[in-house]
Amino acid sequence: MKGSVIVPGGGVGGVIAANLLRKRLPAEYTVTLIDREENHVFAPSLLWLMTGDREAAAISRPLRNLREKGIEVVHGDIEHIDAENHTVLVNGQSISGDYLIVALGAALAPEDVPGLDAGYSFYDLKEAERLRQQISTFQKGHVVALTVSPVYKCPAAPYEAAMLLSHYFQMQGTRSQIRISFYAAEAGPLAVAGENVTEAVRQMLQERDIAYHPQHLIQTIDASTHTLHFANGVQDSYDLLVYVPAHKPPKVIRESGLLGQNGWVEVDRHTLETKVPGVYAIGDVTGIPLEMGKPLPKAGVFAHGQAKVVANNIACQITGKGRLMQFDGHGECFVELGDHKAGFAHGDFYASPSPVVKVARPGVRWHLGKVAFEKNWFRAWF
Ligand SMILES: Cc1cc2nc3c(=O)[nH]c(=O)nc-3n(C[C@H](O)[C@H](O)[C@H](O)COP(=O)(O)OP(=O)(O)OC[C@H]3O[C@@H](n4cnc5c(N)ncnc54)[C@H](O)[C@@H]3O)c2cc1C
Repeated sequence: MKGSVIVPGGGVGGVIAANLLRKRLPAEYTVTLIDREENHVFAPSLLWLMTGDREAAAISRPLRNLREKGIEVVHGDIEHIDAENHTVLVNGQSISGDYLIVALGAALAPEDVPGLDAGYSFYDLKEAERLRQQISTFQKGHVVALTVSPVYKCPAAPYEAAMLLSHYFQMQGTRSQIRISFYAAEAGPLAVAGENVTEAVRQMLQERDIAYHPQHLIQTIDASTHTLHFANGVQDSYDLLVYVPAHKPPKVIRESGLLGQNGWVEVDRHTLETKVPGVYAIGDVTGIPLEMGKPLPKAGVFAHGQAKVVANNIACQITGKGRLMQFDGHGECFVELGDHKAGFAHGDFYASPSPVVKVARPGVRWHLGKVAFEKNWFRAWF
């Protein structure tokens, strides 16, 4: 039995899918993972990198380590995907497989807002390191946290960042000299999860004296005067700008013919198969509409669950063994609050007519849960 599965993307979804398939498929069946980055970065820990609680080496691993498990790893920028022919063009070479699992994530597009480069992000390793450097010398003034668009990965992350920054400045003894504001493009924190979650996070912000301004779409930033201009006419000034940029599908995906009407890859919400047979897409690159009208949030927890389903189902098809599974929209999320505390929410995002999400009382144990999850991550997959 010979054949191959190609996995474009070595982030959360791709690494899990490749690992699980390698375990289930016979040795003559190749599993090839392709990524432009040499290292896999555990994104939730970028927040701890920002505050100086982690170093880059502790939250990343070389993708080439996966070769020791029998996964073929190709390092290169994917230039083209020919979905109909299950073929990927990388480093000028075409690689074809019986199945494709597209896990290319969401591309960050800071260039969409003029002047945004005056600020700092924490959405990739280099940016998080730059921000860490910046806050280490910031003593007083106005910190503005900003989400450029309501669609971004990990709906909790910018809220966690604002609260962790508040705690960081408190520990530095400078918090009383620093005002923190949060301008959100979205209607409320983690709005898709429901009013109870939104309200809980709003309260967390309030308790930390973080002024919250939802439904503010940034238009331009004048770096010379440090002024933010919003679409609704509001203006504000900042001394330190911390932002989450707009997200869009990677260029190679925009040109692949796989996009649906909502601008992301269209998939069956239970099997993750695209409109092209044998081609699956998982994680942030997909757009899965929920009954309530908003899309399934982009989050590692969903990329993880989807990778499990797709890897299982492809292995079943190839080996004829096992039972087919369906992705059921369940997910959970830790919300870091600073001071070694975190909140926790979990629920069913496919529930009808809207997601049913429960919030646990914040405490030290959820923070420890997140630390344990981080530790297990590299143990499990690298
Ligand atoms: C600060 C932060 C905190 C977060 N915290 C959490 C959390 O606590 N819980 C949670 O569930 N989620 C969290 N997330 C979100 C989570 O990291 C993402 O949702 C998850 O990584 C999505 O997985 P993915 O496989 O779809 O895409 P990714 O993990 O983004 O992987 C995509 C991969 O594709 C590669 N790629 C893209 N285009 C190309 C190309 N043309 N050629 C070659 N390679 C390419 C990229 O290099 C990347 O490695 C957080 C994200 C951030 C930024």
